[in-house]
Amino acid sequence: MVCPRCGSHDVHIATVSDSQTTEKVKGFGCIKACIGWLLFSLPGILCGLCGMGKRKRTTTVYSKVVNVCKNCGYRF
Ligand SMILES: [Zn+2]
Repeated sequence: MVCPRCGSHDVHIATVSDSQTTEKVKGFGCIKACIGWLLFSLPGILCGLCGMGKRKRTTTVYSKVVNVCKNCGYRF
């Protein structure tokens, strides 16, 4: 293993953990509102609108293996 930056052979393998947060915004539940309208008229539409703009946050933690150069600190 050779460092691509400085050409040193003093490279060790390290495991680093990383996390990524993704946010999903739920759109307007149009079908839900339509079904609600058919079944319950106005209260149903309000129920359908309740699902609007809901945010779902998901955090994914993953670990990856990187090669770290002891000479210059370069990770690859
Ligand atoms: Zn290096």
